[in-house]
Amino acid sequence: MSIESPADLEGVRAAGRVVAETIEAMRERVAPGVTTLELDEAAGEVFRRHGAVSAPRLVYGFPGETCICVDDEAVHGIPGRRVLRKGQLVTLDVTAELDGYVADAAVTVPVGEPSPEAAALLEAADAALARGIEAAQAGRPVRAIGRAVEAEASRRGFSVLRELTGHGVGRTIHEPPTVPNWDDPAAFEPLTEGLVLTIEPILAAGGGRVAACADGWTIRTADGSLAAHAEHTILITPTGARILTAA
Ligand code: MG
Repeated sequence: MSIESPADLEGVRAAGRVVAETIEAMRERVAPGVTTLELDEAAGEVFRRHGAVSAPRLVYGFPGETCICVDDEAVHGIPGRRVLRKGQLVTLDVTAELDGYVADAAVTVPVGEPSPEAAALLEAADAALARGIEAAQAGRPVRAIGRAVEAEASRRGFSVLRELTGHGVGRTIHEPPTVPNWDDPAAFEPLTEGLVLTIEPILAAGGGRVAACADGWTIRTADGSLAAHAEHTILITPTGARILTAA
């Protein structure tokens, strides 16, 4: 969406605050022995307290409040009876709808102490997100974000999963424009003031290809390597990008 009024800004900020609070509630519970369903139930409690609902469930009939991925799963993992083990990576991807506005953010966190490779991958995802946010300046093409994201990932020795992208957001979960995580010539349209979009590098320790899982939702790395995802919803302002899903 493009912000047209103070009410629009307050609406999407309020959805963004629910997303941030939900991620923190889930993150606090990440530990060995916890199931992904327990994390999802913690998200549902925060949603209900605020009168928010799961946007992926609302729009696509996703079978969960949030998308939760483990290790080589990249996006759209279904919460369930899976028990987290020490050393795994878990991605908490939360998209909430509140009073007609939608915001979206994700983090990948370790279960206990991460391996050195996993820790480097997590740092790279955060750094790539930071570079993408810095690049999101009004007047630049959308592809400037992806160029910055992929450069940071490559510099650190990791791949971006090019088939997975950021997107416009604000009134529903997926809006134009598509926000590639690489310097895609197709993403030539300019970033305009008031535009609300996600920036979400999804990096892999191995190659950049993905594969679909048999559950019909989960996308994982094709080579089984670890994936990490860092995402915020941002607003393009005259003075740079403003994060709407920060805690
Ligand atoms: Mg997203």
